[in-house]
Amino acid sequence: MEIQANRMDLGFLKHQSEYEEAALRVLRSGWYILGKEDEAFEKEFGEYHGCYCAGLASGLDALWIGIKMLGIGEGDEVIVQGNTYIASVMGISINGATPVFTEPDEYAQIDVEKIEEKITPRTKALMVVHLYGHVCDMTRVQEICKKHHLYLIEDCAQAHGATWRGQKVGTFGDIGCFSFYPTKNIGAFGDAGAVISHSKEIIDQAKVYRNYGSRKHYYNEVVGANSRLDEMQAALLRVRMKYIDEITAERKALAAAYEKGLHNPKVRMITQRPESSSVWHQVVILVEERDRMIEYLAERGIKTIIHYPIPPHLSEAYAYLNVAKGSLPITEKYANSVISIPLYCGMTKQEQDYVIDAINSFA
Ligand SMILES: *Cc1c(COP(=O)(O)O)cnc(C)c1O
Repeated sequence: MEIQANRMDLGFLKHQSEYEEAALRVLRSGWYILGKEDEAFEKEFGEYHGCYCAGLASGLDALWIGIKMLGIGEGDEVIVQGNTYIASVMGISINGATPVFTEPDEYAQIDVEKIEEKITPRTKALMVVHLYGHVCDMTRVQEICKKHHLYLIEDCAQAHGATWRGQKVGTFGDIGCFSFYPTKNIGAFGDAGAVISHSKEIIDQAKVYRNYGSRKHYYNEVVGANSRLDEMQAALLRVRMKYIDEITAERKALAAAYEKGLHNPKVRMITQRPESSSVWHQVVILVEERDRMIEYLAERGIKTIIHYPIPPHLSEAYAYLNVAKGSLPITEKYANSVISIPLYCGMTKQEQDYVIDAINSFA
């Protein structure tokens, strides 16, 4: 059997006529950037979170523009977990601020007990990344931010609709940053992103900034950027968002079946913290002999992905930060042992059982 790590076509096919209708509506409208669809999406995505929302061109843009709107820049430090996708870190460094890495816990989320030791007089913000769709102890995170007067930034690119004690991620702090890259739980059909906030002012500023710093054509208030959510992606995302509960439920059921089925002592599956509700962007297993496991699965037609093989502090891009190898041992251990196993909406029981049996038979 051939099993892909991810399938982007199945989610589309399940509601094909609705996506096609939305796409045709935009094509025939004669209006393609910043219009009714964008406005409607922002309203709907904002209301879903009880926040204001600005649609942007990507998740990275949501991070760096959001951080810029908080006034964070050169000379400032932002604490972020070491085990994240490099875009989290670029959102900080693009603004001239310095990323300061901290270690993850056993759930692969930021270790809330190790945050405070990283705080200096220059620390302006804490970024938590809801990696793999999981959630850390957000109550503790809020306490730390309040105590030390730090902005709280949430990278929700992998965690649309995930909750801590019933509250949705992205709503705990100053800004919540979302990506709708096609492989994300809520994926567009191209690049797209959004920033949400309880502050109307921050979102207003982001909307000005994304459009060359203008509210009105050819009247520019600030030096901005071009980072608009186009009408096509907004219309398609409105369809995707109608099914967020269905998407999340399916991912949760698949994750639960993995959790129940996997019983190889050589494998530990990263799970969710009590009191949180993960949306399972990935099911990640930790395996000491990772290369051999990946090869073993590949021989059986099972594709896997490593999220992520090189932690940002060891990437060439961040060599200038001079964070030595070995200085973030837990982060580095994750980088050396994680494997994301196949998980996608539309995965059949037969496919999943095949993957479970293969992993369990690895000796
Ligand atoms: C995907 C992702 C991003 C970046 O999103 P893009 O839309 O690709 O720019 C940022 N942070 C995390 C954790 C991600 O997974």
